[in-house]
Amino acid sequence: MVELQSILVTSRTSLRQALEILNRTASGVLIMRKPDGTLERTVTDGDIRRLLLEGVSLDESLEPLVGTAPIVIGEEYSGAAALELMNLHSINHLPVVDDTGKVIEILERKHLDEQILLSTPHLGSLEREFVEEAFRTNWIAPLGPNVDAFETAVADYVGAGCAAALSSGTAAIHLALHILGVRHGDTVFCSSFTFVASANPVLYQGATPVFIDSESESWNMSPQALQRAFDHAVATGTMPRAVIVVNLYGQSADMDTLLAICRRYDVPVIEDAAESLGARYKGKPSGTHGIMGVYSFNGNKIITTSGGGMLISDDRELIEKARFLSTQARDPAHHYQHSEVGFNYRMSNILAGVGRGQLEVLAERVASRRAIFQQYCQGFAHIEAIRPMPEPAWSFSTHWLSVITLDPCLTGIRASDVIRALADENIEARPTWKPMHLQPLFAGSAYFPHADVSVSDRLFEQGVCLPSGSNMNAQQVNKVINVIDQLFNRVDAA
Ligand SMILES: *Cc1c(COP(=O)(O)O)cnc(C)c1O
Repeated sequence: MVELQSILVTSRTSLRQALEILNRTASGVLIMRKPDGTLERTVTDGDIRRLLLEGVSLDESLEPLVGTAPIVIGEEYSGAAALELMNLHSINHLPVVDDTGKVIEILERKHLDEQILLSTPHLGSLEREFVEEAFRTNWIAPLGPNVDAFETAVADYVGAGCAAALSSGTAAIHLALHILGVRHGDTVFCSSFTFVASANPVLYQGATPVFIDSESESWNMSPQALQRAFDHAVATGTMPRAVIVVNLYGQSADMDTLLAICRRYDVPVIEDAAESLGARYKGKPSGTHGIMGVYSFNGNKIITTSGGGMLISDDRELIEKARFLSTQARDPAHHYQHSEVGFNYRMSNILAGVGRGQLEVLAERVASRRAIFQQYCQGFAHIEAIRPMPEPAWSFSTHWLSVITLDPCLTGIRASDVIRALADENIEARPTWKPMHLQPLFAGSAYFPHADVSVSDRLFEQGVCLPSGSNMNAQQVNKVINVIDQLFNRVDAA
């Protein structure tokens, strides 16, 4: 941002002085003030060049520039309106003036054009080396040393017995269900408050999902709702073949409580940790609590291979089965023989190279995302209606996404208002996941709410996911906070 004090001139300033200030501050623009302190106009390099061409000398004053009304915008501007005005007049700087005509800020096109996105890939320094090694050794085709090394590195990182690198997190969930024998006619319990990729593989297997609500402490699966779903399953003789517990936005579900319930009925748990790699539950890494765990390396996740996933387990047999199924289920024979249906779900050796590099910076990425969440918490501390996503004592969240809810009892501002205000400033924010039991795709599915009220319905209505990429700087986080703060100030004043 341009320091206003350093670029002030008057009509008596000489061309030479003006050029010196432009040169020193690299601001690209000067503010010419009237004697009463209000704005006369802005002055650019171009304006001075034109004066010189007209024959005005360097030691003469800027006086000839006086008399053209400046293009300005009022305090209540939006980024979109400011940009429109700049485009209309082909200018790159726009003064913001208060009611009295005094300049309070200069907007620059390059800052308005800048987009702040929800969560973008953030590469480290080693990815290229691992990928180049794959090229150098012509190990491009599926499998190879990067795949093996990436599997071992992920398994070591989270303390799992072994891991299978796959083409996506969705593929990992699909294989986990397949391996557990989920078939047509079976039911599978699944968190309702999640991304659709958690539940789609249930349909791939021809099975029927039953959706379980969240609790408000972690926003993840409600043990209370899960218990009622099991009570119902016992009463109707429809025991689920598996339970998919999702860890949302970088935070683990209350695994001990959920696992204890599932163990009572001897039903295995798949932990969908696609969004929570790097998080911990009571000190133990997210994803390692169920019989199998799933990670995703999709482009928006905390680390990425541009696309990819991992299935982990302490049970080597399960992972070997996953590797077998993910490479077309080829029998151990020289000729191409197949006894069961297989899939083409393996990760390539190139992408595994990216993954190896990314894993090296995972701890840094977690620290950055947690710091961004902290900055938001501090920035919103004075706005009572804004509640950051809670973090229970047993949770170490990565805050993959920083999510807030808006209390409708305390504000008329809705999630969609916040998202729109941010969009006007070129900032990408998103609603929270629309729960599965509200999706047309799953219309008619059974659903067990937490209590009389559905927690996930509320989180969907009130939630906003804020830009959280680990490559955001503190100024960008501040910009997001300021836009939301201004929205609240405007509405409070109205
Ligand atoms: C991203 C995601 C997945 C799927 O991972 P992909 O690698 O994109 O297939 C599954 N579950 C949740 C909760 C996710 O956020």
